[in-house]
Amino acid sequence: MPVIQAAVKTLDSWRLDRGASLLIPSHAMARKPSQPGSSRASREPQPMLERKPSAQQMTALEIYDTTLRDGAQAEDVSFSAEDKVRIAQKLDELGVHFIEGGWPGANPKDIEFFRMIRTIPLKHADVIAFGSTRKASNTVRKDPNLQALLAAETKTITLFGKTWSLHVTDALGISLNKNLELIADSIAYLREKGRRVFYDAEHFFDGYKTNPEYALNTIRKAVEAGAERMILCDTNGGTMPWEIREICQVVQRECRVPLGIHAHNDCEMAVANSLVAIESGIVQVQGTINGIGERCGNANLCSIIPNLELKMKRPALNDRLSHLKEVSGFVTEIANLMPNKHQPYVGDSAFAHKGGVHIHAVLKNPATYEHVDPAQVGNRQRMLISDYGGRSGLLDKIKAYGIKLSKDHSKVGELIHTLKDRESQGYQFEGAEGSFELLMRKAMGSHRPSFQLLGFRVIVEKKQEDGTPLSEATVMVKVGDAVEHTAAVGAGPVNALDHALRKALEKFYPELREVKLLDYKVRVLAANQGTESKVRVLIESGDHKDKWGTVGVSENIIEATWQALADSIEYKLLAKD
Ligand SMILES: [Zn+2]
Repeated sequence: MPVIQAAVKTLDSWRLDRGASLLIPSHAMARKPSQPGSSRASREPQPMLERKPSAQQMTALEIYDTTLRDGAQAEDVSFSAEDKVRIAQKLDELGVHFIEGGWPGANPKDIEFFRMIRTIPLKHADVIAFGSTRKASNTVRKDPNLQALLAAETKTITLFGKTWSLHVTDALGISLNKNLELIADSIAYLREKGRRVFYDAEHFFDGYKTNPEYALNTIRKAVEAGAERMILCDTNGGTMPWEIREICQVVQRECRVPLGIHAHNDCEMAVANSLVAIESGIVQVQGTINGIGERCGNANLCSIIPNLELKMKRPALNDRLSHLKEVSGFVTEIANLMPNKHQPYVGDSAFAHKGGVHIHAVLKNPATYEHVDPAQVGNRQRMLISDYGGRSGLLDKIKAYGIKLSKDHSKVGELIHTLKDRESQGYQFEGAEGSFELLMRKAMGSHRPSFQLLGFRVIVEKKQEDGTPLSEATVMVKVGDAVEHTAAVGAGPVNALDHALRKALEKFYPELREVKLLDYKVRVLAANQGTESKVRVLIESGDHKDKWGTVGVSENIIEATWQALADSIEYKLLAKD
């Protein structure tokens, strides 16, 4: 299937292009949000359920972000020093208290990051260097890791050490007492050099379960040596919330310095474990944006922060919660990952309604199917288009686009008929609201096309078995009375077609230059027909303030792509009206 292979290649080349669109703020997606008239007052929790934090619990919380260090250890994620600086600035704007920038003793790229970030003024956050206690064979002065930490020139250093006897004897191969020495003199040395030290007790919960006295001894040593925070780490992510509660309470009684929690998500408990720890009186919570991290990831700050502020009434960010979705999208883009639509609070589907009953109810009062107001985290309500929605769902959707239509208007029947017909052909308008709006406007007779296609041709040529195929497209379009005929090459047939179409139209519509293709997806429909199957192409496009999806369906992947591309451009030009 050479055509499909070519399309996959094109997809890759677009992915590489995505850097150009990094500045698209995702909050701008709400170009035409629905405007439900009902008040949000009814979202307030029932008095019986309202959580009133105790005086001790009202201690100011510290949000400690480790996206740039632990998050960067996720499979498929690689940040350059420049990427890290941009993310650090974004995290600072969000109002996190600490940004763990990297491990300068283990990663030369991180040394570069600390050099760069020093010259950039941050408003809220303190940048932190991360590293381990000295090696048993080195003195503190000769230990390259401790020296690299000092050279990073941060006010605060987070130092991790071993808590679990198994790790001390089997991984480090040293005695339990020797490990206590490493902890004590590494911290004391950094304190002597004028640095604040946070101590990460690695594998704390596993260590405590194996040998509680030794685990507590490591912490006592760190406190005596001058560390200002004791971070209890669930490094393997295997601890349950009730164990976290019990152990945190014990440490709380034993330890006079404030505690923190660093949880991994191997049992999908990282967010729950972090919240339970905070409820037990811990003041610092560590995590990453979108929960990215090694294996199953870290505790997700995009869930922890809104849970703290909206459910537990614990202030975490200084009035910046409504920027959360934007920051989540920014990190996804820089990490070049596919966004997780279904992510709580910040995912595109987190407040999306599809069922007819849901749509109808939510339009009357959003609290019927939304646990919080999406605007609080910078998200928005979406109504998905589907025949499940029925006549009233469709009318609600039409209303959301600002078109007033009575239930018995003749055009409504026509539009439902067109929609059902399209869906039976394999079109799907969830995620393709740009195409839906165009279809609706065409059915209502209110659409004026910005251009007319007179024809296109796409050629893919491969001259040698191991050679790269060349793709070239020519497009002929009519704008008003002018006919434009252009050719362009591309990284694949789809890319060539896209280039040729824009080249032809940019002369008439210079604003098309700012449109970027953000995503391109191909799905084979009715798979039993092999290469004769229909394909559905979904394209996501964006400019500096908006994002929109469009769809095309055909047996021919180029034709399906053309439909989605042409809709994308029509939609952008529609926005101008
Ligand atoms: Zn970790």
